[in-house]
Amino acid sequence: MKDCCSDGNNGEYDIAVVGAGSAGFSAAITAAEAGARVAIIGHGTIGGTCVNVGCVPSKALIRAMEAAHSGAAARRFAGVSVASRVDDWPAVQAQKDALVSGLRDKKYEALLPEYENIDYIETKAPARLVEGGVAFDGRAIRAAKIIIATGSSSSIPPIPGIENVQTLDSTSALELDRLPESMVVIGGGVIGCELGQMFARAGVHVTICCRTRLKEHAPAQ
Ligand SMILES: Cc1cc2nc3c(=O)[nH]c(=O)nc-3n(C[C@H](O)[C@H](O)[C@H](O)COP(=O)(O)OP(=O)(O)OC[C@H]3O[C@@H](n4cnc5c(N)ncnc54)[C@H](O)[C@@H]3O)c2cc1C
Repeated sequence: MKDCCSDGNNGEYDIAVVGAGSAGFSAAITAAEAGARVAIIGHGTIGGTCVNVGCVPSKALIRAMEAAHSGAAARRFAGVSVASRVDDWPAVQAQKDALVSGLRDKKYEALLPEYENIDYIETKAPARLVEGGVAFDGRAIRAAKIIIATGSSSSIPPIPGIENVQTLDSTSALELDRLPESMVVIGGGVIGCELGQMFARAGVHVTICCRTRLKEHAPAQ
């Protein structure tokens, strides 16, 4: 990885990747390995959704609550009694946060120096496309090809009355510093189900509301 402003590229790249999440990194590394000069332009925490607020933190909490649940579930066998409960939710969260930060470093930050022909540019404001390149923070780079890997963001659905209640999305739910007594999950898709089950196993009374039926995981083609 080179410093973007003193690299001798004159702000010219074969490929500019907008978005420094898993898709952006994967595209940039593949292009760099094929010999391209690449700029990754990232706004927000490096690594994007998966490592920071998606796959990694959700699976860390899910596995911890699965372990707690297995103990309690052992009671269905005659003569077996295992006591397990969540008695320190902040400690559960701290362990999850340490995993996130370790993996963010290992899979993203520490990886960049291995690629001489990738420049990582962290922007204060979201980058935007301009004629022939990408602009950010008052300057621009030129690139022959631009890959947009800006991911997605959550939105609050237009449910009458929703503006009068406190809502969480998956990111803020994963960051709760104390467990609520109860929770309504709106949406029976993958994330609604896995987070609903995780909180239920942690002792929260969870109700999942969905329009039709719980979404089945689509088998790999
Ligand atoms: C709770 C949860 C659990 C999940 N679990 C799984 C799982 O178990 N398995 C799985 O496969 N997937 C899972 N996913 C989905 C997975 O995390 C995403 O599909 C994946 O992270 C998307 O990667 P991406 O690189 O496309 O986008 P992102 O990781 O979102 O990266 C996009 C990046 O672009 C940045 N950006 C946006 N606009 C601009 C701009 N204008 N300029 C510069 N940068 C910009 C964003 O800030 C972000 O950093 C989960 C998601 C969530 C929320």
